[in-house]
Amino acid sequence: MTSIYWEPELETLSRNDLQKLQVERLKKTLGFAGESSFYKSKLQECGISADDIKCVEDIRKLPFTTKQDLRDHFPYGFLSLDKKEIIRLHSSSGTTGNPTVIYHNRHDIASWANLMARSLYTAGVRDTDVFQNICGYGLFTGGLGFQYGIERLGCLSIPAGAGNSLRQIKLMQDYGTTVAHAIPSYLGRLYEVFESMNLDPAKDTKLHTLVIGAEPHTDEQRRRIEDMYGVKAYNSFGLSEMNGPGVAFECTYQDGLHIWEDAYIVEIVDPETLEPVPDGEVGELVMTTLDRQANPLIRYRTRDLTRIIPGDCACGRSHRRLDRITGRSDDMFIIKGCNVFPMQIEKVLLKVPEVGSDYLITLDRQNDNDEMIVEVEVKKDWFRGDITRLDKLTKQITHQIRDEVLAKPIVKLVEPGAIPKTEGKAVRVKDLRKRS
Ligand code: ADP
Ligand code: ZN
Repeated sequence: MTSIYWEPELETLSRNDLQKLQVERLKKTLGFAGESSFYKSKLQECGISADDIKCVEDIRKLPFTTKQDLRDHFPYGFLSLDKKEIIRLHSSSGTTGNPTVIYHNRHDIASWANLMARSLYTAGVRDTDVFQNICGYGLFTGGLGFQYGIERLGCLSIPAGAGNSLRQIKLMQDYGTTVAHAIPSYLGRLYEVFESMNLDPAKDTKLHTLVIGAEPHTDEQRRRIEDMYGVKAYNSFGLSEMNGPGVAFECTYQDGLHIWEDAYIVEIVDPETLEPVPDGEVGELVMTTLDRQANPLIRYRTRDLTRIIPGDCACGRSHRRLDRITGRSDDMFIIKGCNVFPMQIEKVLLKVPEVGSDYLITLDRQNDNDEMIVEVEVKKDWFRGDITRLDKLTKQITHQIRDEVLAKPIVKLVEPGAIPKTEGKAVRVKDLRKRS
């Protein structure tokens, strides 16, 4: 029988041995980090060296690193090796200031590809699969990050790139794609194209698995995607600063995302006090790389909010599980004095069967009052329905959102496709109050 694990020894290592490995790798990481101009002075300032690290908790003696630090020390302040050793960089777009950039040497790329292969294997992908990567290639990590992992695992890869739905469907049909990776908001739109061609992806493709991630989404959205495509859909989490995809992944039990603790030390802290929160409580995810040489990051504040799911997973992997990431601390907005996360609204909307695949929250001010307008695409047959039915549905959604977030929205039902689409990750909130 073939193993359910990609690397059985590492994935099922006892907690004790896993922590020993973390300490050993943290010491090495500090060695590499100390070669960068940023960490050289940071480590000198705090007076901690590898010799002071005896157990994983000792990481708390080290300073945090923020996105602002990465920006302030752009482009080479975090580089730990000679440029000659570096073979690739990935960076954010940098439209709002200096981009954040991460460098990789050969070791880093191989380690990332292996983590990615392990993640996919964990979700049941095998070398017999035909894998279509529906994702932008280039500086964005989802393209090449997946590509190297898919090849490492040995699937037949289709580097399809993002967009062009008609071509995506043709590729799926021509080559018998069995697994695809895409952002969840795109899969709703792609389904509409299938429908317009009178095709049913559950019957007219060979897909059995979808890998979805890169943006916050609710379990309701995942279940919808599973129903639309007749597949299992697995949550994939990562961020460019920690390589990109392949950081944490759901196993076939779909009960949280295993975060690869041989490659990262995970802390969940209170975003205000920066003190650790107990297992099971929500806080900000803080991560330290353990297997990166060119650009190690220590106690990086991701701003993502999540919690560790207490207890063991039925799959037998010892690496702890993160709960679904509900968003970043800066996704939260305040409306009429209530703190709201977009995912709270998505959760309400996607429980309503008449609701289609897209929505947009617009925040504005009218006569000195905050206003939250929620535009919701409804399914085609419904939009053509009579006005009283639409009125009733509008009222129902208004009440349900108010009950969830405690602020009353103005709900507008719109036809499928009415909400402007963005390239890449979905934009869920438009805050016009910030206009000067
Ligand atoms: P950017 O910062 O430009 O969005 P990244 O591609 O590095 O670039 O995005 C990483 C971020 O995307 C994460 O920090 C997190 O906020 C979000 N993200 C990634 N995967 C998921 C996921 N599975 N669920 C929720 N959010 C996710
Ligand atoms: Zn598991």
